[in-house]
Amino acid sequence: MAKILFSREEMTELNIKTLNRRGIQVTDIAEIAFNQQSRYTKDIVFNDCVESVLKILSFRDVFHHIQLFAEIDRLAEENKLEGPIGDILRADLGLFGIDELVGLDIASLYGTIGQTNFGDIDVNKPGLVNTLNEGGKKEGVCHTFMDDIVGAIAAAASTRIAQMYNEDKAHENPNVTNISIYDL
Ligand code: MG
Repeated sequence: MAKILFSREEMTELNIKTLNRRGIQVTDIAEIAFNQQSRYTKDIVFNDCVESVLKILSFRDVFHHIQLFAEIDRLAEENKLEGPIGDILRADLGLFGIDELVGLDIASLYGTIGQTNFGDIDVNKPGLVNTLNEGGKKEGVCHTFMDDIVGAIAAAASTRIAQMYNEDKAHENPNVTNISIYDL
């Protein structure tokens, strides 16, 4: 029987492989998260951003998003989608909007702030998001979904950092006890 259930370690590894195949490195996503969250939270550590990206890459929902939409981009590149949708994806039509919907869905893992952080990245296109967006304009290249997926993972990681650092701050209050059941 085909394997359809993967452990979190396996999903992380498969996601990294898929992202790499699409020209995306974990550290590039972490950099977007770092630059975004640095504006709001002082003294954040880059490695926490890398760890946050890896955490998000281990979620089953995110695994399904990445695996599905990386394939759709690839199939669009290879002219393997029938009907008008291939042309619409290859042109990265501004009014398409389903790629942003996918981004918002991933970012909502970290609530409303995750979604507004995604909106910021979607509009301002920092770093790799811009590279993917520009690269997608070339003949035979389609990044219609992957630029939003990268932006959404970065937004989720950035928001997770804010949650982590605020949780640490809350613990500076002597009345807050250390409870380890929370997994941000
Ligand atoms: Mg897009």
